[in-house]
Amino acid sequence: MSFRIGHGYDVHRLAEDRKLILGGVLIPYDKGLLGHSDADVLVHALMDAMLGALALGDIGKLFPDTDDEYEGADSIELLKEVNRLVEQQGYMLGNADCTICAQQPKLAPFIDGMRANIAEALGCDVSQISVKATTEEKLGFTGEGLGISATAVCLLEEME
Ligand code: MG
Repeated sequence: MSFRIGHGYDVHRLAEDRKLILGGVLIPYDKGLLGHSDADVLVHALMDAMLGALALGDIGKLFPDTDDEYEGADSIELLKEVNRLVEQQGYMLGNADCTICAQQPKLAPFIDGMRANIAEALGCDVSQISVKATTEEKLGFTGEGLGISATAVCLLEEME
C-alpha cells in the first residue's frame, strides 16, 4: 500500500461583524474571521494538507477568491470537494491531526463538534480526525488576538 503525507497552514484575521466558524462549528464570540469564504481557517489548513499530500496545489488554486462562486462559501462543502478529488486519485484519508492557535475564545467545548463535522464530510470515523487548540502565550498575532492560525498534517492511503 502506498502512503502520502501532507501539511497545511492557514491564517485569517479577526474582525468585527463576522461569524467565527471553526471546523464547521459556529462559535459564540464578539469577532469572527475575515475572508472571501466563511474563513474556516481549520478546514482550510486541512484541505491544503490533503491537496499537498498529492501535490495537487492548494485551495487558492482550486477555489480562487476572485471567483464569486466561493463568496461566503461553506468550507465544509469545499472539503467534500477536496475529498472527491483525493478519491479520484485513488486515495483515502488515513488520519489527520490539526492544531488551532487562538488566544481567545476557549475552544475546548467545541472540539468534538469540529471533529464530527470533518469526519462526516470525509466519510470517515471521528477517531481518524484529531483537532487540538492552543494559545501562543499572548505572543505574536494570535497572542494579541489579531488573528487565528491553524496547521494540519494528514496521511492518505492508497485504496485497494
Ligand atoms: Mg484560508
